[in-house]
Amino acid sequence: MAVFAEDLLQAAEAAEIEIESAVNQLNRIVDRNQWKVIEAFQKHQVSDFHFAGSTGYAYNDRGREVLELVYADVFGAEAALVRPHFASGTHTICTALFGVLRPGDELLYITGRPYDTLHKVVGKPGDGTGSLADFGISYREVALTDDGKVDWDEVSLAVNSKTKVIAIQRSRGYDWRSSFTVSEIGEMTKKVKALKADVIVFVDNCYGEFTEELEPPQVGADLVAGSLIKNPGGGIAETGGYICGKKELVELAAYRLTAPGIGGEVGAMLGTTRGIYQGLFMAPHTVGQAVKGSIFAASVFERCGFQTKPAWNDMRTDLIQAVSFDGPEHLIAFVQGIQRAAAVDSHVVPEPWDMPGYEHPVIMAAGTFIQGGSLELSADAPIRAPYIGYMQGGLTYSHVKYGVLKALQTMRDRNLL
Ligand SMILES: *Cc1c(COP(=O)(O)O)cnc(C)c1O
Repeated sequence: MAVFAEDLLQAAEAAEIEIESAVNQLNRIVDRNQWKVIEAFQKHQVSDFHFAGSTGYAYNDRGREVLELVYADVFGAEAALVRPHFASGTHTICTALFGVLRPGDELLYITGRPYDTLHKVVGKPGDGTGSLADFGISYREVALTDDGKVDWDEVSLAVNSKTKVIAIQRSRGYDWRSSFTVSEIGEMTKKVKALKADVIVFVDNCYGEFTEELEPPQVGADLVAGSLIKNPGGGIAETGGYICGKKELVELAAYRLTAPGIGGEVGAMLGTTRGIYQGLFMAPHTVGQAVKGSIFAASVFERCGFQTKPAWNDMRTDLIQAVSFDGPEHLIAFVQGIQRAAAVDSHVVPEPWDMPGYEHPVIMAAGTFIQGGSLELSADAPIRAPYIGYMQGGLTYSHVKYGVLKALQTMRDRNLL
């Protein structure tokens, strides 16, 4: 333990005492979600043979079909599409949007600028990339108010006869704002439907799954999507994404993923099925470990004089812990410190780079078993003022604890703390 300064270890100990009641509350969410998942497995009589995987067209792959029934139940949706063929969260969200939008329609984001990688999915008219705009699907967004709420005056002005999909991003992403809780998403859905009854409410659910007892379809969202290398994959699913919601909308997304008329009836799972099932089983627990780690991180960073969002005792609805630093040196030390605590690739030193889909250089710590898997302890920071570092994940709480200590110790070693 001599690798950590005594005062940093003391801060960690004090933090663990401080967060005890928040952790008890979290444990109740974990318990309920664990049972919700088990009940869905039991209802559909999941058995060993469902894990076998499939090849070729994979017609009648019972394991895949039951997996999607289980997902639909867990998310409180009519149907689900859960596939290893989704290459990333962005691809999954893109598939859902292209599935339901048609030329002449408009997409309206009511939670401000969406996650960076989606900007190119939205695109610009005539950009020649096959973006939404390139296909004649227009786009608007309404910025959040200064206190991070939906600007309803602007939203009611923005909704028009072309508005087909209203999108909500649950998690803060790379933004210094609060994330939206499931109950807030329920309120938003009600208000949006009052403005235009037939609009489709889409939720980018990335990083949110299992942090609360309910999921967006259970409060009225029509279509939600997320990544299997984040929360619902439990750190075990090797790749993929899920879309769930109203049956006819999920079917349209499936037509887009494969081909019209074919949809979800095909799609070889190869050897991924067992991992996706087991990951879903593990997800409530593992998300709990990660969230506990985030609560701890907030408490310790606050003790060391940094501003955090959420604060340790704020309500949480996603994995992301944002920490605000004074400049790029702290940010880089933070990310490099997290990397130094990894079991995988601790010997590499992350540096800022121009990552595809992102508009600023980004530095990322990701010593992960699944490449880029961010239910595993990882940290990212776009190198831009106001120098906010984002950390998320942790398959075990203890790993997060040492990641945070390494980050602080790295700052200390560089005379930044
Ligand atoms: C991660 C994320 C995405 C995109 O997922 P990728 O797997 O990185 O493509 C989209 N939206 C939010 C809120 C995310 O957190």
